[in-house]
Amino acid sequence: MKKTVLITGASHGIGKSCAILFAQHNYNVIINYNRSELEAKLLASELVDSGFNAIAIRANVANRFEVDEMIQISNKVFGSIHVLVNNAGIAHQKLFTDISEYEWDEVFNTNVKGTFNCSQAVLKDMIKNHHGKIINVASIFGMVGASCEVAYSASKAAIIGFSKALAKEVGPSNITVNVVAPGIIDTRMNSNISPDVMEQLKYQTPLCRIGNPDEVANAILFLASQKANFITGQVISPNGGLVV
Ligand code: NAP
Repeated sequence: MKKTVLITGASHGIGKSCAILFAQHNYNVIINYNRSELEAKLLASELVDSGFNAIAIRANVANRFEVDEMIQISNKVFGSIHVLVNNAGIAHQKLFTDISEYEWDEVFNTNVKGTFNCSQAVLKDMIKNHHGKIINVASIFGMVGASCEVAYSASKAAIIGFSKALAKEVGPSNITVNVVAPGIIDTRMNSNISPDVMEQLKYQTPLCRIGNPDEVANAILFLASQKANFITGQVISPNGGLVV
């Protein structure tokens, strides 16, 4: 039986790489997006044209009503969701003293509440089916913190705590919950980092380069696979050896 994966924030970057990789590994793929309708629909149609099963569904992960609607649509099209990748995320690079309450809430609503909304929405079926895999995308900054990324680092640390706790709670239902916490990856999220800072980050990375989204997607695919059946509550960090 073909399995179904829901990847949040799959219109760009790491989520998009996941959508392509999971499709190539025989999954039905639900491409969630919020603002990038064109990119998400183009990706879905390219996958379908290549003979894969994929649909693009819009939902702001921070909005529970929209998330529930997305799950209803995907259940109608592909049946129960077997794998959830909570990848949608935003960052605001700012001094802590400059970040507004609105920006703080926006980061936490997308990164943390979005992870809560999507996980709770798929778990009922996963518990009933006694099977499921949830992979949450955090960040190395959730482990070590980053200057000018206090809200982001705190939200990613929350995702790690969330995942470890949920792994304990749903383990008896044969559901695994793990975290992928990437280092610096070449995506739109880092497009406003200056070339100088990027060079510094490469210099601090033992592998002497920035990662690419496929390298994160491969770790996520592994955690979704049967090869990872005995792994839960863990954090894997594809980061080129970077310890900042
Ligand atoms: P990206 O290219 O900017 O992609 C972010 C994705 O998240 C987009 O597809 C965007 O969709 C989606 N998104 C944002 N807000 C959303 C919302 N409210 N509802 C649904 N989707 C939403 O960035 P990326 O680097 O691939 O980031 C993916 C994940 O990796 C994030 O959780 C990020 O924190 C994490 N990460 C990235 C790095 C890095 O260096 N790039 C490092 C560590 C962790 P729309 O455009 O459709 O709104």
